[in-house]
Amino acid sequence: MIEFHRVHKSYRVKDLEVPALSDVELTIQDGEVFGVVGHSGAGKSTLLRLINLLERPDAGQIRINGEDILALDAAGLAALRQKIGMIFQHFNLLSAKTVAENVAWPLKIAKWDKEKIAARVAELLDRVGLTDQADKYPAQLSGGQKQRVGIARALATRPQVLLCDEATSALDPQTTRSVLDLLAGINRELGLTIVLITHEMDVVRRICDRVAVLDSGRIVESGPVTEVFLHPKHETSRRFVFEAE
Ligand code: ATP
Ligand code: MG
Repeated sequence: MIEFHRVHKSYRVKDLEVPALSDVELTIQDGEVFGVVGHSGAGKSTLLRLINLLERPDAGQIRINGEDILALDAAGLAALRQKIGMIFQHFNLLSAKTVAENVAWPLKIAKWDKEKIAARVAELLDRVGLTDQADKYPAQLSGGQKQRVGIARALATRPQVLLCDEATSALDPQTTRSVLDLLAGINRELGLTIVLITHEMDVVRRICDRVAVLDSGRIVESGPVTEVFLHPKHETSRRFVFEAE
């Protein structure tokens, strides 16, 4: 379970304080697909980056499985990050490495031995349907294939949580659907918790169980996706729901 309690985050740009998140309360249950929607600048990426402490909050508490992650030392933080995978809008693959080498990368860092890495990479490429692309370089792949490599790499160390930052925003609608179906299968079969941020309500409707709507750094509404779609309470939610129709 991931819990945010009264979380605040601002960025300091020269003498200016740029607020990004205000008073965020959030509970994400194990094994659910949790969506966060909001317009550009709403604070979505910031919220995601607080979960693996790529950013630290200015105030508030963040707990994962009951543990206060803000109190972790360096070793604890490294262990936390092993349990959390992440995928990105622009895939963030290593361009000078092949597909297989990209997927192997986190395992090399975790000091797995060679044979175990080879077996794990084969298993992962099979899961994302890229066995026959193993020796290609990222530049030789389509967008959808690149994101599949990103997913395989993120799953390599068997994380419990997968963070998705606009993971389908650079893809066409059909490729988006196939990547979302892959994520839904992974959630179902591995029981992995998925936190997915997006500005598209269609993405939420396709795979999320619950959703939070973020507006100017505040959660203005949250609940089961069916509920938010049928009875959007807040103006911002209504706009997202109408756009999706
Ligand atoms: P988008 O949909 O465009 O990706 P977002 O919802 O992910 O937007 P964030 O990236 O979390 O939004 O940004 C929230 C606010 O914090 C914005 O006002 C943004 O300009 C600001 N911000 C984000 N990152 C930084 C940073 N590293 N330094 C300064 N300000 C930042
Ligand atoms: Mg963002």
